Amino acid sequence: VRTDPKTLHGGSCDFLVVGGGIQGAAVARELVLRGASVCLVDRADFASGTSMRSSRLVHGGLRYLKNGHLALVREALAERERLLRQMPHLVRPQAMVLPFFPDSGGSAPWLMKLGVRLYAMLARGSTLPKPQSLSAADAIAAFPGLRARELRGALQFWDAATEDLPLTLAILDDAAAHGARLCNYVEVVGVADGAVQLVDRMDGAAMEMRAGAVVNGAGPHADELRRAFGIEGEELVRTSRGSHLVLPARAGATALAAFLPDDRIQFVIPHEDGTVCGTTEVEEPATGEPSVPEDDVRYLLDALAYLMEPAPRREDVLFAYAGWRALPRARGPAGALNREAHLITEAASGMPVHTIVGGKLTTHRALAERVANELLGRGPSPTRTRAPRAGQGPHEPADPLWRRHGAAAALVRSYARDPGQDRAIGPERPFLHGEAVHALRDRGAVTFADLALRRLFHTAGPCLDDAWLRPLYSTYLEHRRWGGAEDYAAAVADLRAEVAAMTGAGVPRTSSPT
Ligand SMILES: Cc1cc2nc3c(=O)[nH]c(=O)nc-3n(C[C@H](O)[C@H](O)[C@H](O)COP(=O)(O)OP(=O)(O)OC[C@H]3O[C@@H](n4cnc5c(N)ncnc54)[C@H](O)[C@@H]3O)c2cc1C
Repeated sequence: VRTDPKTLHGGSCDFLVVGGGIQGAAVARELVLRGASVCLVDRADFASGTSMRSSRLVHGGLRYLKNGHLALVREALAERERLLRQMPHLVRPQAMVLPFFPDSGGSAPWLMKLGVRLYAMLARGSTLPKPQSLSAADAIAAFPGLRARELRGALQFWDAATEDLPLTLAILDDAAAHGARLCNYVEVVGVADGAVQLVDRMDGAAMEMRAGAVVNGAGPHADELRRAFGIEGEELVRTSRGSHLVLPARAGATALAAFLPDDRIQFVIPHEDGTVCGTTEVEEPATGEPSVPEDDVRYLLDALAYLMEPAPRREDVLFAYAGWRALPRARGPAGALNREAHLITEAASGMPVHTIVGGKLTTHRALAERVANELLGRGPSPTRTRAPRAGQGPHEPADPLWRRHGAAAALVRSYARDPGQDRAIGPERPFLHGEAVHALRDRGAVTFADLALRRLFHTAGPCLDDAWLRPLYSTYLEHRRWGGAEDYAAAVADLRAEVAAMTGAGVPRTSSPT
């Protein structure tokens, strides 16, 4: 998936997309499928920003319904259905229980029942089951551990859950398969004489290239990039931090979507390899790396104590992460793609710079279609009907390799046929050496942390035991295609530092990654 950054120097393309999160990935894919020449760069690893730090829901958003944004909800629900069809290995139906306690926020139960019915109606043609009311006993049976005390009943409705980082990598993979050139660890630092200035973050080399236009998909850092281009004017983005805690995997498959007394909604979402609980919403400027502060840990543990019995304890927390939402600072018609996302066009050194503001994981394809309509003119969007290549081919839900790689499972199996590659790296995580080889050869992993944290993606975070990391490092040394730490101790120190920065106060002292 990765192009050698050195080949960008002195070159040109129609569109340079800055940012390899879900929005940049989707725009690159849409533009290249409509015939444009596209380069995409990210100053860090692909999908290492907000796009690996979400609640991992593919949903219409009940809260938009509350605000009367029916068109927005309808579009997100249509995208949900498309993703369920096009990416069945990564997007799965998710039953949700919404409990009623006398002091929980949200609206009155009768209004919520009405809202959830409207939500289901807006999902025209949905293949998901219809919502239903549950007694308190049925709610506890659906979500064991739900607080029985004062529980007045519940609603069950359906949405979808995903794995945000693998989804982003799958979109990038499809963009690359159709000719987009993608480089992680390449930063855009400015523009001079009409050429975009780039720095290779692996060796510090300065490069430049020409682009017909730039698409600013830097998410929470969109204003920073505008400044680097010398664009003045008011800030377009405001950022807020959302933290999640990861608990051990649960037995049941149903999630919780519950209103707290402070009116915020909390999710407890089961994944095969951990339970994602969140989130918080705290205004915070996007400087440095987002991390989980002590206040967020306490807030989330209190929320879980309100919803569950016995209440999860701090020692139960396996992993934690925080991300920045990038929200439009000003609302209004200027550059509006819909109520949630905007495309603002400015110029830097005579070159158009199109900045994406806002957007959801769920609606990445629809946003990309609108961006391409603005940039190339209205045209049929191939992505409406064409699945990314990882989503093509037979469904093999019983096969863990298919669940992790979709159609690329066949390629992984071919690597796993080599001697030694069919073995699990260790008992702590489910991955085979062959999957590490695939990550290094085909999925753009550059550093050891890319491999351990973002390609062998695990909800409970990477295993930090030497017994697991040593054999993985041997595979890394043998199969890596790019530079990276030459020495095991340095590679592991970098990985631990990344994990510690990500989890902040969210990991119990006993299993501290430092
Ligand atoms: C807590 C939380 C929960 C969420 N939950 C959901 C959910 O359940 N469902 C849903 O649909 N949506 C959800 N979202 C929203 C969704 O996650 C985001 O809309 C999406 O991930 C944003 O993607 P992005 O590509 O805009 O930004 P990012 O993923 O942050 O990507 C931006 C990229 O730009 C790169 N970059 C920045 N500056 C430069 C530069 N100068 N040069 C090169 N590269 C640069 C960064 O390294 C980064 O990788 C959630 C968001 C948050 C914060």
